[in-house]
Amino acid sequence: MSVSVYSCVNCGGAVVFDIASRTFKCGRCASAFTLEEMNKAFPDDEQGSLWNKAREAADGKEAEVSDISNAEEKEISVAAYTCHLCGAELMADSETLAASFCAYCKTPVTISEKLLSGKNMPSRVLPFRITRDEAFELFRGKTKNKPLLPKVFRSRVAYNDLKSVYVPFRLFDAECSASITARCENVTRWEDSEYIYTKVDTYEARRSGAMAFRKVPHDVSDKIDDEAMHEIEPFELSELTPFSKKYLAGHYAEAPTTKEENTSGALRRRLRPAAESTLLDTVQGYSSVSLSSSNFSVDKALSEYVMFPVWMFAAKFKDRDYLFAINGQNGTMSGRLPVDGSRAWVLFLELALIAFIAVFIGLEAYLWAS
Ligand SMILES: [Zn+2]
Ligand SMILES: [Zn+2]
Repeated sequence: MSVSVYSCVNCGGAVVFDIASRTFKCGRCASAFTLEEMNKAFPDDEQGSLWNKAREAADGKEAEVSDISNAEEKEISVAAYTCHLCGAELMADSETLAASFCAYCKTPVTISEKLLSGKNMPSRVLPFRITRDEAFELFRGKTKNKPLLPKVFRSRVAYNDLKSVYVPFRLFDAECSASITARCENVTRWEDSEYIYTKVDTYEARRSGAMAFRKVPHDVSDKIDDEAMHEIEPFELSELTPFSKKYLAGHYAEAPTTKEENTSGALRRRLRPAAESTLLDTVQGYSSVSLSSSNFSVDKALSEYVMFPVWMFAAKFKDRDYLFAINGQNGTMSGRLPVDGSRAWVLFLELALIAFIAVFIGLEAYLWAS
């Protein structure tokens, strides 16, 4: 298997992308290298130039560079596994996967080689900023003082259970057409000595227009919960840097597994409300406006395949999968944590008992006073 580990030129130890220093660091002798030095030492995946090349060719016309096809470029190989129990598909350098356990369900997995090329090759990546220490502190803060949280989410979460995963996203530039019909009302009230009058004037307003959306992100991993990803947005896109597989050193990356037709459906569902409310905002001068019908279509969509950094902790509780995610760039957390029903019941009984005692004491005091 030709999957590479980056070995330190000074001591032969494994080199990983170190988040705190944002350099490539040897785990054994602590030598730090820049991406340029790494590319010189390991010229196996100079994909970094790809994005810049495409941008130069497009001469600044941003909309047109976003559907970059990497088909012309040579392929690169990474280590990868597919978990047969939970369906996770992850890639990394072989150092990260050395333990050979699934990052989600801890099932032993076998590692094989995966080739990235063409549409499978990310064009840009957002390197991690939030370190493991910071992510663990955020997670602990979130789970503190939550009496209903199942124990598995509190006591048993070890420092190393948090995984640094690059999640595959597509950034969409979309041209859309939309039209709406809105029901509008103007209400006037007046009164005389006998009656109160209410007059309701009803109107139908129609609006239609073409609009363009730029850089709308959507994750393209079936394993990852779309809701959790929406909750940890936004990512600061100005920090996107040309992809190099060296950023994966010491971290995981999800493989893009979502089928194209499912992604375009998700994109439509996401953009439609935005288009409707944009048109609805132009209907003014009424005391109430409500949407009665709408048409929406995505006429053209181009996308770029990028990777965003996410710290995640996965756990099973009562046969349901829970994914706790932290934006690896700015620390925004996804919010949904499970509630332990049996603990809720105990807490309810405790509170009921306290209330009963309080009433009892109150009654005693009342009897005593009377
Ligand atoms: Zn070293
Ligand atoms: Zn698994």
